[in-house]
Amino acid sequence: MYLRIDKLQVELPVPEEPDPKAAAVLQELLGGRFGEMSTLMNYTYQSFNFRGRKKLRPYYDLIANIATEELAHIEYVATGISILLNGAAKKEPPSGTPLATGLEAPNKYQFLPLGLGSVVGNSMGAFWSGEYVFASGNLVLDLLHNFFLECGARLLKIRVYQMTENPVVRTIVGYGLVRGGVHATAYAKALETLTGVEMTKLLPIPRIDNSKFPETIPYEKQGLHRILYRFSPNDYKELAQIWRGMAPTGDGELTVVDGPPEGFPIPDLPEIPETYAPEFDPEELANRARKFSEEFEKAQRNIQSKK
Ligand code: MN
Ligand code: MN
Repeated sequence: MYLRIDKLQVELPVPEEPDPKAAAVLQELLGGRFGEMSTLMNYTYQSFNFRGRKKLRPYYDLIANIATEELAHIEYVATGISILLNGAAKKEPPSGTPLATGLEAPNKYQFLPLGLGSVVGNSMGAFWSGEYVFASGNLVLDLLHNFFLECGARLLKIRVYQMTENPVVRTIVGYGLVRGGVHATAYAKALETLTGVEMTKLLPIPRIDNSKFPETIPYEKQGLHRILYRFSPNDYKELAQIWRGMAPTGDGELTVVDGPPEGFPIPDLPEIPETYAPEFDPEELANRARKFSEEFEKAQRNIQSKK
């Protein structure tokens, strides 16, 4: 079962201006092959299909727990896309062209069926696919795949970062590089304990320090690259048998934090009357309710008078 907390794992800026080009590119980190949908669904299905949980509890706990953090990651990337589309509809009458920005936007789908929201798809608009999920049932192979997936995700994050200076994208990538680094390290350590191969020596892939990207620095200063959050009130405790020892970065111990991070308020993006979203007028609803109750009372009186 899942609990849900109505907060965002990372605090996102809300710029004045929309940026549909950045919104289209950021889709790659949501629904691309190496995006958050893929990490989420890979680890989730590996945990659902996991056999021999009693015997291999620390590995099951690790995969199931990281899967849950990935849910929070699809949330902040999707929210980032909505933020980047905020204000993309112009204030014009319905017979004008309030959505003309969409003509030039790389991703029309965000404008048309979604009314300025995120697609469960990649930077070219192709939908995310369940074919991206690898869950072989072989624990070493699955962990090796997860290590590869986190490293691929890191490469894609860096490339997206290098396409735009938009602060929403760069905040998401900065935070994502730090948290993705934790996951890559966690899978590397899991493989080390299972096989004796020194996987952490391969990190980071690509071989460039997080510190080269200034947006990672505040998070690393808080030690977020050494923390594995336990995203559950009482479960998944045995992951601490894997997440321990000196961090590969050499600046401190790996620690498990019991419970999710504090989180930040989710920006409340305004309605978009130009896209008919969500087309809810409190005054009109109150009028309708009043009219309904008047008609109801009239019907009641009719019934009474016939008795
Ligand atoms: Mn992630
Ligand atoms: Mn991850």
